[in-house]
Amino acid sequence: SKHFVLLVKSSDPDKLIEEDYLQFLFHFYCHQLQMLQGTYRDALTGLYNRRAFNEKILQLLDNSNNNYKRRAKNFSPTVYVMLDIDHFKLINDNMGHLFGDEVLLLLAQQMTDSFRDNDLLFRYGGEEFAMVLMDITPEQAQQTLDRFREKIASHKFPNVEQVTVSIGFTEFDKSLSMDELIGQADNALYYCKTTTRNAVHSYQNLVESGLIPAMKAPRAPKVEMF
Ligand code: GH3
Ligand code: MG
Ligand code: MG
Repeated sequence: SKHFVLLVKSSDPDKLIEEDYLQFLFHFYCHQLQMLQGTYRDALTGLYNRRAFNEKILQLLDNSNNNYKRRAKNFSPTVYVMLDIDHFKLINDNMGHLFGDEVLLLLAQQMTDSFRDNDLLFRYGGEEFAMVLMDITPEQAQQTLDRFREKIASHKFPNVEQVTVSIGFTEFDKSLSMDELIGQADNALYYCKTTTRNAVHSYQNLVESGLIPAMKAPRAPKVEMF
């Protein structure tokens, strides 16, 4: 549903740009866009793929030295989310791989419909998804994600009785490394998986309630042992 615009500016206002040339530019531009989409989008779901994930998350963290951040952005990442479909293997086993794929596609559509345009949605791998939510408090994120979880649990997927998702999230702390950020959300997700599934948990809340241990501070560089 996104629109792209090609703006062609002539350096000489008295000189018209030939239509043939414009058409050539336009086709070239579309081709480049398609290549970019192919590189950064997951073919099945249309969400950002793992490659886009690595690049975009790094760009958003403080320890990257690129100029992406310097561009004025009127929104900032505040919550990092990991989402995993519950018992997806059973869906594949019972209904077949094609139905499994259909569930992945429909879930991705629900994600696109449910979150805001500025939020970043990724297919992290197989039946795992990641999201970066912009300008939202952890309390609001908990509510939004819970509503999404309920929406999925009550959605009528074709031929599948019920699909549920487990969700773990953490505050997007820009001073963390990528591994630490992912690790925190993953620990919250793992807690869902080992308790009830079909739930949303935040890393900070779980640590505060003593339900999971805080992750260790980054380790000092390894000392070579002989
Ligand atoms: P849990 O609730 O613990 O997450 O259980 P699970 O069955 O969802 O998790 P598990 O990791 O055991 O299985 C994930 C399955 O997802 C196994 C794999 O075959 C399937 N899968 C991964 N990628 C795809 C895909 O692109 N299409 C389909 N149809 N299945 C996939
Ligand atoms: Mg799963
Ligand atoms: Mg999984």
